[in-house]
Amino acid sequence: MKQLSRGAFALPGTSLDFKTGTWRNEMPVHTHWGAPCHVACPAGEDAQAYIAKMMEGHPKQAWEILVQANPLPATTARVCPHFCEQACNRKHMDQPIAIHLIERYLGDEAIKNNWAYPVDVSKEDGDPVCVVGAGPAGLSAAYHLRRLGHPVTLIDSLPEAGGLLRTAIPVTRLPRDVLDAEVGRLLKLGIDFKPRTALGRDVSLEQLMGEHAYLFLAPGAAKSRHWSVDGAVPSDLREGLGLLKEWLVVGDIPKPKSVAIHGGGNTAVDLARVMKRAGVADVHVITASGLPGPDADPKDVLNVVPREFEQAVEEGIVFHAHRTIQRLLMRGSKLVGLEMVHLKKLPGAGGRSSRVAFEGTETVLHVEMVVPAIGEVVEPQGFENLLGHADYFKADPIGQIAGSDRVLVGGDARGDRGTVTAAIGDGRLAALAIHAKLTGKELPDPKRRPFIDYDKLNVNYFEPAKRAVEPMLALEQRNDSDEIEGGLNYAQVTHEIGRCFSCGNCLACDNCWTLCPDNAVIKTVERAADGSHYVFDYEYCKGCGLCAHECPCGYIGMVSD
Ligand SMILES: Cc1cc2nc3c(=O)[nH]c(=O)nc-3n(C[C@H](O)[C@H](O)[C@H](O)COP(=O)(O)OP(=O)(O)OC[C@H]3O[C@@H](n4cnc5c(N)ncnc54)[C@H](O)[C@@H]3O)c2cc1C
Ligand code: SF4
Ligand code: SF4
Ligand code: SF4
Repeated sequence: MKQLSRGAFALPGTSLDFKTGTWRNEMPVHTHWGAPCHVACPAGEDAQAYIAKMMEGHPKQAWEILVQANPLPATTARVCPHFCEQACNRKHMDQPIAIHLIERYLGDEAIKNNWAYPVDVSKEDGDPVCVVGAGPAGLSAAYHLRRLGHPVTLIDSLPEAGGLLRTAIPVTRLPRDVLDAEVGRLLKLGIDFKPRTALGRDVSLEQLMGEHAYLFLAPGAAKSRHWSVDGAVPSDLREGLGLLKEWLVVGDIPKPKSVAIHGGGNTAVDLARVMKRAGVADVHVITASGLPGPDADPKDVLNVVPREFEQAVEEGIVFHAHRTIQRLLMRGSKLVGLEMVHLKKLPGAGGRSSRVAFEGTETVLHVEMVVPAIGEVVEPQGFENLLGHADYFKADPIGQIAGSDRVLVGGDARGDRGTVTAAIGDGRLAALAIHAKLTGKELPDPKRRPFIDYDKLNVNYFEPAKRAVEPMLALEQRNDSDEIEGGLNYAQVTHEIGRCFSCGNCLACDNCWTLCPDNAVIKTVERAADGSHYVFDYEYCKGCGLCAHECPCGYIGMVSD
């Protein structure tokens, strides 16, 4: 290994004459910890690693690290709830790193510059796999299977790939040129994409099993749950997801004077905003959940990106939190209002809490229309044998369906996912598992690995600095077609990157090399076995622990010798 220097003050005839290593009873070691941002991302993105590459000034290489896990970063940067930021250690000092804006910058640069995935498209030496459903889960599985050399057939009942990204998420949040660019690039990896091909209508499970070594099912959840209030429904009832999908195709939406949308997720909030922009004067969202905010219980808030809730409030949507609809007020079969009641979470048997309606808290809301947006279950057609009477597929952590050796499932069809990023993570994990099973390798471990806590960092080396904020269209500029949020430029991204603590991974700051009193940290040109450019010379290291203490990122730990 080529040695650059022993240390900043290593003059011959001084400390080098004394083998201080004999004094030691503790020794420093380099430990690669998981960074919280990496561990928290359901898609498996390593933000710490691509931010480090950006610090070195290599955006393309940073994007190549990013797409090792997530093939659709320009998309997730826009729609993911940013689990990475919720976990980011920087929040303990001031505010989390705006990881999604760095991700967005890289995703958009890749589109602008036509960067190709670092994938060998000619490699097709694996067994063939069929993926059912071209939403984010199916696209991710197809991508990772191609990376691993498997021929992939991808079928979808619709004419275009994208799933709910295309059919439900408003273009004001996810412009379709961004989606088209990312999906188009992915399908060009030699994936045999068969649109307008529905399992259960055009092809059977048995047929696909006969032609492929494995199946990955990612049909999402498209069948609306039954909704009524004590058996009553207005005669003109429309459900939320259907309305949104129709609006995206034909550009039309009902425009009553007032509407109440019943639900606490993306469909409810997106529909409310679309109806408000379309001219509905009074738009209410009635939700059993709480609202996002500093004191909110994260397990009990609307299931949307918090800043989208803030935008909705800004746009004039009225939220009724911790409430449900107790009674519909009808004139004949026509709705004229509804009665809401307050819900409280009470601890129940076995430690599980349940929501209970509180008598005496009833209030009346006069609205002309009510729209349920309370979620969907799997459309069973084609999957009857695997699904039985259940609403969702039951599977183990990697997606293996019990009793079906060669069938895995992921995304919304599992029932407990509900985000694009979780769907992408499922697709990746299933692809790795299928490859491992077909090649006799070890199965991927779905468990979260340990990550480094804030108190193991030495943040004295970092200055407080304000988090970057995305530019946003002013209220009066918002319409049905323009993207509401914008991205950062290179200078802004560089500033944001400079805030990162590089948790658990060497920042190459030279502190250990400069401060070691025994010149026992050697700087190298090549990477050492542990991936850093620094090695300890244990002949001289007396185990004082200074390097570990002064390492900003917690990359050095002391262990007994
Ligand atoms: C209005 C709305 C807004 C949302 N906003 C966000 C957001 O901001 N952030 C976020 O993280 N999540 C959001 N979500 C949730 C997110 O879209 C889903 O979690 C995600 O799309 C699930 O991916 P999936 O691949 O499992 O399923 P889907 O996206 O539903 O894709 C399933 C695909 O399978 C196809 N398919 C179904 N059955 C068959 C069959 N029998 N044969 C062949 N093909 C079939 C369908 O045509 C579809 O293309 C939103 C959802 C909605 C409804
Ligand atoms: S996909 Fe979401 S959680 Fe993962 S890095 Fe991007 S914003 Fe963060
Ligand atoms: S400070 Fe940087 S490495 Fe640490 S969790 Fe945040 S983004 Fe990740
Ligand atoms: S002190 Fe600096 S150079 Fe040394 S291991 Fe820690 S981050 Fe890397």
